[in-house]
Amino acid sequence: MNEQDRLAGRMEDFRRACIARGIRLTHQRLEIFRELASTDEHPDVETIYRKVKIRIPTISLDTVYRNLRFMAEEGLIAVVGLSNERQRFDANRSDHHHFVCIRCGAIRDFLSEKTKKLTPPREAEEIGRPVSVRLEVKGICRECEKNT
Ligand SMILES: [Zn+2]
Ligand SMILES: [Zn+2]
Repeated sequence: MNEQDRLAGRMEDFRRACIARGIRLTHQRLEIFRELASTDEHPDVETIYRKVKIRIPTISLDTVYRNLRFMAEEGLIAVVGLSNERQRFDANRSDHHHFVCIRCGAIRDFLSEKTKKLTPPREAEEIGRPVSVRLEVKGICRECEKNT
């Protein structure tokens, strides 16, 4: 699948999910999601803001952040990354997991048959309403390992 098709697929999936949940598809929301969905880098809010601003010059960092938070709470996107780092966001709504490099902070997606269909444990449901289950594997990425 090429980049263009993948982005189109993610946009379509996003539109459908919004309609199913009765969430308004505002121009801002669409543009923010489009920027996030066009990369697999799991960008932070400033990075997304800088790109969205090209198309919507009047948008503020706070507006971008509030929309991202909203979409994450609705399960439309995910918040990822190390807890002591700036929050980063993910528009890949497919069942996937993350490899997080503890040296450079890179977050890469991976799929695994073994971890398909993970369901939230009961203990998690006692704390709150689960939105998704994602495995986070931490380590040193190949790039970093090469540079040591
Ligand atoms: Zn790394
Ligand atoms: Zn991801």
